[in-house]
Amino acid sequence: MTDAAEQKMRFLYALRSKGVTDARVLSAMEKIDRGLFVRGLFADRAYEDMPLPISCGQTISQPSVVGLMTQALHVGPRDTVLEVGTGSGYQAAILSLLARRVYTVDRHRRLVREAQEIFRKLDLVNITALTADGSFGLPDQAPFDRIIVTAAAEDPPGPLLAQLKIGGIMVLPVGQSDAVQSLIKVTRTEAGFEYEELRPVRFVPLVEGLASE
Ligand code: SAH
Repeated sequence: MTDAAEQKMRFLYALRSKGVTDARVLSAMEKIDRGLFVRGLFADRAYEDMPLPISCGQTISQPSVVGLMTQALHVGPRDTVLEVGTGSGYQAAILSLLARRVYTVDRHRRLVREAQEIFRKLDLVNITALTADGSFGLPDQAPFDRIIVTAAAEDPPGPLLAQLKIGGIMVLPVGQSDAVQSLIKVTRTEAGFEYEELRPVRFVPLVEGLASE
């Protein structure tokens, strides 16, 4: 077996052993090469199950957390998904193989630009990446079947709850940035919102307003 094939096998094995068992999610994660989304110093660690630094002082999430969040989101082929926190673009690329359309926003225009380049290279034409403060959602494209937030807020932002369709699911980390946060799954029903706590996680904070670069 080549080194690359062995690396990929270990990567997928680590995902499964951490509870990522959904076949569609595993297949999407097999197809999207995480190595493309990690640049510079840390590029050779792209296939390890750990978060890594990216531009603008942000991080690409740990692959098993990406897998577990994607799995909890139950994305279907007709779904329109909003991601808040484009970062490297890795999570959006995986979602794009599972959903009809993905909108992803980040407050750093540089991250959005770099992610767009990779989406173009991979021909992921169903992703729209925009520079925006995602705490307000994306009112022009709302409502969404699925919303995923990859930065931690103290509470689920009201505009995001409002932009979720009935029957829709939102997965997000909540809690203070310096404390242990909880990954939460919110389901919108006819009667209101149901909350389920999934597991402890650690994410960079959701910050208000656009960044300077
Ligand atoms: N999903 C990413 C990881 C995201 S890291 C990946 O797959 O690589 C969290 C990202 O959230 C950072 O890039 C940060 O800039 C962004 N972010 C923080 N607050 C935000 C806000 N209010 N609106 C949009 N993006 C925000």
